[in-house]
Amino acid sequence: MKKLALLSAYDKTGIVEFAKKLEARNFQVISTGGTLKKLLDNGVKAIAVEDITNFQEMLDGRVKTLHPRIHAGILAKRDNPVHMKQLSAENIQPIDLVCVNLYPFKATIEKPGVTDDEAIENIDIGGPSMLRAAAKNSQDVIVLTDVNDYDDYIERYDDNKLDSKYHRHLAAKAFRQTAAYDALIAKYLTNEEFPDKLTLTYEKVENMRYGENSHQQAAYYKQAISEKYSLANAKQLHGKALSYNNIRDADAALRVIAEFPNQPTVVALKHMNPCGIGTANNLLDAWQEAFDADPISIFGGIIVLNREVDLATAQKMHSIFLEIVIAPSFTDEAYDVLAKKKNIRLITLSFGSIDQNGHDEVSVLGGMLVQNRDLLHEEPANFKVVSKVNPTADQLKALAFGQNVVKHVKSNAIVVTTDTKTLGVGAGQMNRIDSTKIAIDKAQPKAGYDKAILASDAFFPMDDCVEFAAKHGIKAIVEPGGSIKDQASIDKANELGIALVFSGKRHFKH
Ligand code: 5GP
Repeated sequence: MKKLALLSAYDKTGIVEFAKKLEARNFQVISTGGTLKKLLDNGVKAIAVEDITNFQEMLDGRVKTLHPRIHAGILAKRDNPVHMKQLSAENIQPIDLVCVNLYPFKATIEKPGVTDDEAIENIDIGGPSMLRAAAKNSQDVIVLTDVNDYDDYIERYDDNKLDSKYHRHLAAKAFRQTAAYDALIAKYLTNEEFPDKLTLTYEKVENMRYGENSHQQAAYYKQAISEKYSLANAKQLHGKALSYNNIRDADAALRVIAEFPNQPTVVALKHMNPCGIGTANNLLDAWQEAFDADPISIFGGIIVLNREVDLATAQKMHSIFLEIVIAPSFTDEAYDVLAKKKNIRLITLSFGSIDQNGHDEVSVLGGMLVQNRDLLHEEPANFKVVSKVNPTADQLKALAFGQNVVKHVKSNAIVVTTDTKTLGVGAGQMNRIDSTKIAIDKAQPKAGYDKAILASDAFFPMDDCVEFAAKHGIKAIVEPGGSIKDQASIDKANELGIALVFSGKRHFKH
């Protein structure tokens, strides 16, 4: 007797060729409406699901294959005599292969202007039911849900390599497919922030050469429907593939630059911390500021620019070694100059704001923490002057700039900035005074230090940072406040005659 293969494919790529190969291997193909028509039109002697079920497709296709004669055929255990007896009592033939790909729910909800009815109608019910049934009974049934698996199956069939490991591999793939499909539906139905069961769906972008270090393996995944302003939507024009660390750094840099959309801005970043940020009226000047901020650290850095890269800026950048340059676009001349270096990665990305509804996830052993994003953009209006000395208008602008920078620096974070550029970044120290010393030490020799301010991502636990800063010429400081020792810092600022401002909001970044 012929074996039965049930083919029901929304994406009909390769389905005719596959059906023909199955026929040639003594399968009888059964199929649903559209798939059946395509097969018959192309000379496959398929039969209709209705021929098995004796039941017409109904409810506009909502019910096609949802029938015991189909599902019993898939689910019966061949080594279970009771199952097999029940099948033959009902004159049901076992189904040996199920090949299904699902209604395009994702593509439907991504269509601009899609209606709710359209989205709901594109929730496949019968398809996942068959996939799950076949996957449950994978010991006896082959389940295919990926167009790219057809040829491999035929090859294995011919080579007699349809072992239980392969059956299980396909079953797991089918369950992953239905799980991801359902996760997307749940997300579409309500965008609940922290649901009891968190179902995320990600799709592999690529396997990476290695992870954070060369002895670690890694892969890059993107959200099934990825937010717009994301490296996942970038286009690489030149250079080697991005590494694991490149992607993390580039992502961090994209977050920083999103703070400054209104002016030409350049962010230089190394190891997850900005080493130089410059904003100016033109990109070339912004580059120079970002460069001057730390001409040593920028070497091998990640550079993000929020305006088209012009020739002059490209020439400057070309003079040092950079890992990655990301911009909305490059002029042809700029591209030609930068692309002279074989290894530099040149990437374009359409710039925008960070998705307000997005979440950040970090893994912990055995779990994951999820939070919404720190998208609080600091403005002078958020600040409260707590010292006797008032900051000047320029200082207030610089204090806001400093706060918007320091929130992107790993805690304990201290930055020394003007109102347009960083002069010193003190990152990731285990106490605040060390970060303060580093930031000031880097900033002090630089042009603009006489107008510099100091910003802290979290409160000062004692007055030593204020004292150190004031004694090294800093005239205005912003910190969130909130320490039981706030008064000591205020007293110190007053004693040394500098302005101290509380922002009221902490910006830890670990
Ligand atoms: P066709 O183009 O062959 O008419 O339909 C193929 C699609 O129908 C596949 O995506 C398959 O998953 C889906 N499908 C198969 N059976 C059923 C069913 O009973 N109900 C629904 N809603 N979809 C089904």
